[in-house]
Amino acid sequence: MLELCGRCAALMAEDYDVRRIAGGRDCKVTCAQCGKRRYGGKYEIGRKCSRK
Ligand SMILES: [Zn+2]
Repeated sequence: MLELCGRCAALMAEDYDVRRIAGGRDCKVTCAQCGKRRYGGKYEIGRKCSRK
């Protein structure tokens, strides 16, 4: 489980299966990706099983 800001969550969603953990509203988190305090939420990052 990672805390990500909305921007990084969107970026990671391109490469990973990013699932928002339900129950949380947008709140200030320390983004695990960019390390900044931003609005975001908790996400579960999984592996995408797509092959290109
Ligand atoms: Zn971020």
